[in-house]
Amino acid sequence: MKKFTLILFTVSVVILVFGSFVSDSDDTSKTKRPKNVIFLIGDGMGMTHLYAGMTANHGKLSIERTTHMGASKTYSADNYITDSAASGTAMASGVKTNNGVVGLDTSGAVVPTILEYAEQNDFATGLVSTSAITHATPAAFISHVENRGMYEAIAADFLKTDIDVFIGGGANHFMQRKDSINLVEQLKENGYQVLFDMDQIKKVKHGKLAGFAAADHCPPYLQGRGDMLPEATSTAIQILKKNKNGFFLMVEGSQIDWGGHANNTDYVVSEVIDFDNAIKEALDFAEKDGNTLVVITADHETGGMVIVGGDFKEGTVKAVYGTTSHSSVMVPVYAFGPGAEEFSGFYENTDLFEKIMKYYGFKKDK
Ligand code: MG
Ligand code: ZN
Repeated sequence: MKKFTLILFTVSVVILVFGSFVSDSDDTSKTKRPKNVIFLIGDGMGMTHLYAGMTANHGKLSIERTTHMGASKTYSADNYITDSAASGTAMASGVKTNNGVVGLDTSGAVVPTILEYAEQNDFATGLVSTSAITHATPAAFISHVENRGMYEAIAADFLKTDIDVFIGGGANHFMQRKDSINLVEQLKENGYQVLFDMDQIKKVKHGKLAGFAAADHCPPYLQGRGDMLPEATSTAIQILKKNKNGFFLMVEGSQIDWGGHANNTDYVVSEVIDFDNAIKEALDFAEKDGNTLVVITADHETGGMVIVGGDFKEGTVKAVYGTTSHSSVMVPVYAFGPGAEEFSGFYENTDLFEKIMKYYGFKKDK
C-alpha cells in the first residue's frame, strides 16, 4: 500500500469507527422500549364490575391513572362466549382455541406463551393469582393441557419452566397428588424457596420463589384473604426487577369472576377493590421505573352485570344480573407506560399477545 493510500485508508477507518460509535450511541434511543411488562387480568371484570368497585370505593380507583384504553373481543374458537382457559390461551399465546383448552391450538398442538418467550430471552418471569396457581388463567401462561381440570399435570408443567416467582393457592396440586410425586421437593432441588405463609412470602427479596398462600384457592377477600394480592404483586416485582434484561409478570384478580357467577355484588365489589390495590402496586413501580408497560384487562365479563343504583358517599351499589355464567360482551383494556398507545382501539384478545411480543422485540418460533 502506498503511503497516500495508507493515510486515506487510516482516515476512513477512523471515520468508520467513529461513525459507528456515533450511530451506536444514537441507537440507545431504540433500546428505550419497555423491558418490563406487568399484565393484570381481572377474571370476569367487565366495565360494570369496575364501576361498581369504583362506586363502592367512593368514586375513585387507582386504575384511573392509566392513560390509554381499548376494547378486546373475547369469543373463543368454538364458542361465542369464552371460558377462562380459551381466553387465557388467546392472551398468553395469541391463538384462539376451544373452551376448556390450555396452551394448545384447536389441532392440539402446543402454542408457546409470552412467559415462555420471556424465559427464552433471559427475562425474569412471574405469576400471581388469588385462585390456585394451577387454575385456568395462570395455567394458560405456563402449561399445555387439553383440559383445564388437569390440575396435577398443570402443576407438573411449572417444573418444566424456569419461572422465577409464582404466588397463589394450589399447594395440594404440587403435594397431594394421585401419582404421589412431591413436586415441592423437586422445586426445592431446583433452587426455589418454597413458602406457605404470606408473612414469610412477602419478606423474600431475591432468588426463586414458590409461594403457596393456600392449599386450594385463597379465600375471598371478604373471608379473610387480607392484602395477599397487592402484597404478592409487590413481592414479585421486587424480585423480578433484579433481572437486568427485564421481566414479565402476570397478576390475576381471580375471584371477581366468582362474585359474578354468584350474582353477589359485595363479592364482586370487594374483589375489584382488592385487584385495584394490586394495580396500584404495578402503577407505582411503573411510574418510578419509567420503562415498564402496565396492561390491565379481563378475560371475559361474568354475570351480565348491570348497575341500577348507587351512592358514592355511602359507597353502596345496587346491581342486577342477566346470567350466572359468562357473557359475550367485549372487555376493556387499560394501559400505562411506554407503548401504552398501542392498546387503543378495537382488537381481538389474541392481539394482546402480539402487542406485548412487539414491545419486547421477541421473535416468534415460527
Ligand atoms: Mg381465572
Ligand atoms: Zn367464570
